[in-house]
Amino acid sequence: QYILAIETSCDETAVAIVRNETELVTNIVASQIESHKRFGGVVPEIASRHHIEQMTITLEEALQESGLTIDDMDAITVTEGPGLVGALLVGVNAAKSIAFAKQKPLVGVHHIAGHIYANRLEKEFEFPLLALVVSGGHTELVLMREHGSFEIIGETRDDAAGEAYDKVARTLKLPYPGGPQIDQLAQDGEETIDFPRAWLEDGSYDFSFSGLKSAVINRLHKAKQKDEFLKPEDIAASFQASVVEVLSTKAFRAAEEYGVKQMIVAGGVAANKGLRAALHEKFKSSETELLIPPLHLCTDNAAMIAAAGAVAYNQGHRSGWELNANPGLDLELYGDRKQ
Ligand code: ATP
Ligand code: MG
Ligand code: FE
Repeated sequence: QYILAIETSCDETAVAIVRNETELVTNIVASQIESHKRFGGVVPEIASRHHIEQMTITLEEALQESGLTIDDMDAITVTEGPGLVGALLVGVNAAKSIAFAKQKPLVGVHHIAGHIYANRLEKEFEFPLLALVVSGGHTELVLMREHGSFEIIGETRDDAAGEAYDKVARTLKLPYPGGPQIDQLAQDGEETIDFPRAWLEDGSYDFSFSGLKSAVINRLHKAKQKDEFLKPEDIAASFQASVVEVLSTKAFRAAEEYGVKQMIVAGGVAANKGLRAALHEKFKSSETELLIPPLHLCTDNAAMIAAAGAVAYNQGHRSGWELNANPGLDLELYGDRKQ
């Protein structure tokens, strides 16, 4: 069985093919980072235009690399949300056109379900499992009792982890995207500044990163006023220490409470060296198995959409020709729907 997937939710135009749910055949990602860099972030209008330019080229490249044709595909899957509406529309319309022209089943996929399922290209899932989703727009702990079912047990109340990284990076005048830059700096720095940890109420699995972000900005501001020099490496290390401690501690506590077989890490921030190390340390002697995807499956790609889409397709989910981009698509409702 071959599943084709298209992902255009943000600034990557991506096409992938997956065989038999878990075997990655082809994974092409055309990144637009260079075009957005000079604006310090993703410009939605520019992203849409790039997707239109790249969509056909990326699709052709994926087919060529795999030596397969659309006729070989069992279904066409596509990210329907969440994301930038103008960006999503390009992928959704491409998928609909291909599916209609070739009379193939069409399956809309939730972007975050995709981030989670990226892990299944590496290792089979064992339920119940918890997923720590840490990306540019999301930070949540998701409980899965079976394939395609998602229960959010905690989520951010303000900024997402990746968003906090990008905002702090901007105040440090680092180029976009800031996450990898701060991660790199943090390797050479020390935790010299005691930034706050947002634990929230006892037992809460929610997150909050805007207070931390403000604390970093205020500390930099104070230093500037006093002509005090703070090493960017130390700011990065201190900021990262706060983010990593809260994420890894809450993830570990949730894994214990829910007695899950696996803890899965998903989303762009899963690429973070500090987070990966802290989680490995925490779960070292735990019964819960820790899964973290390789770097190329952490940030946006279509392989993860194919992996989630294949399961949805095999569970009988189908989208109609009315499938539309849904920038605010809810993960729990997406899992609940039976089409
Ligand atoms: P979402 O998936 O929530 O819709 P998105 O698709 O924009 O958002 P991803 O592509 O999953 O997010 O991840 C991008 C984010 O990951 C950016 O905020 C980026 O700074 C962050 N990121 C990438 N690598 C690292 C790293 N090594 N350390 C910290 N953050 C990182
Ligand atoms: Mg991206
Ligand atoms: Fe993403």
